[in-house]
Amino acid sequence: MEHIIIGPECIGTGLCEFTDPDVFEVTDEGRSSVLVEGVPKDHRDKIEEAIRACPTHAIRLIQDPSSRSIAEVTEGSGRDER
Ligand code: SF4
Repeated sequence: MEHIIIGPECIGTGLCEFTDPDVFEVTDEGRSSVLVEGVPKDHRDKIEEAIRACPTHAIRLIQDPSSRSIAEVTEGSGRDER
């Protein structure tokens, strides 16, 4: 199961909350927090958009919190076709 985590790089810009306020919320401490369990299918596109939009690359998807394999989705498709 995938989970969203917010890394220490978060500076509280609020872009993620603006992109999907059902999933992200900036707390009074000035950091984003995740409001959902896992990655809801109907929010996946917005979550990926928030990941791409985050200026500090603080949002990550991990496969399982107990696993050390982290799948970072930070740069669109990751392919540059020329
Ligand atoms: S967009 Fe990134 S830096 Fe801004 S609040 Fe969300 S996680 Fe933090």
